[in-house]
Amino acid sequence: MDQFLALASHCRNNQTDWKKDEWKKREDKGKSMEQISEPVPPALRLFLQEVAEQIRVGSPSTKIPSDDLLQCDVAYGGLLDQGGTRYGFAYFHSADRRPSWYLMLESDQIQKIADGIATELLLWKCDLKRCPTRSTMPDFQCSYCEFWENASVSRPKTEEEGACNEFDDWLALFTRVNPWATGVDAYNAYRNTPGLEERLGEYPAYAIHRGRLA
Ligand SMILES: [Zn+2]
Repeated sequence: MDQFLALASHCRNNQTDWKKDEWKKREDKGKSMEQISEPVPPALRLFLQEVAEQIRVGSPSTKIPSDDLLQCDVAYGGLLDQGGTRYGFAYFHSADRRPSWYLMLESDQIQKIADGIATELLLWKCDLKRCPTRSTMPDFQCSYCEFWENASVSRPKTEEEGACNEFDDWLALFTRVNPWATGVDAYNAYRNTPGLEERLGEYPAYAIHRGRLA
């Protein structure tokens, strides 16, 4: 959630030019961003209905700036600025509970989503095809891209990952794609592949301490 506080102060300090600057920064890094419309997931809408209700009754958790006074199983966040109307939220799009959507929403947007008047969100996404991260702001830090763009290992193809029914299947696949990888490489790749833990379970400790896998 630190990135919300950073975003908020960044916006305060650069009221007019932040967007232009961020585009420039992205261009310098050779990244391009795309803005897309995504349906509001039902679990997120339920959470925002609760938030809208708390705003309506004037609950202190909606009036005190924080990064986690508002939370549920799939999201957490809070008011960004004292006396303001903007809220920042991290939403876990998959059950492995890693935040993958970063949202900055005005209270009237929250209300519209809660009421079902707004059913889509306009979100930025990275150009890496399988990146699950989305944000209402173009300058979010993307841990998925940061990992895979700098990793010395490659992520197996989506359809081959999908064909794995248990952890050992995935480890064998990963080792085939990355014959030089170690147990630690595999652990990091596993943790940075959305949905794997949810589907195949936690990475087993015994497999971390292996040296070269092949
Ligand atoms: Zn990304």
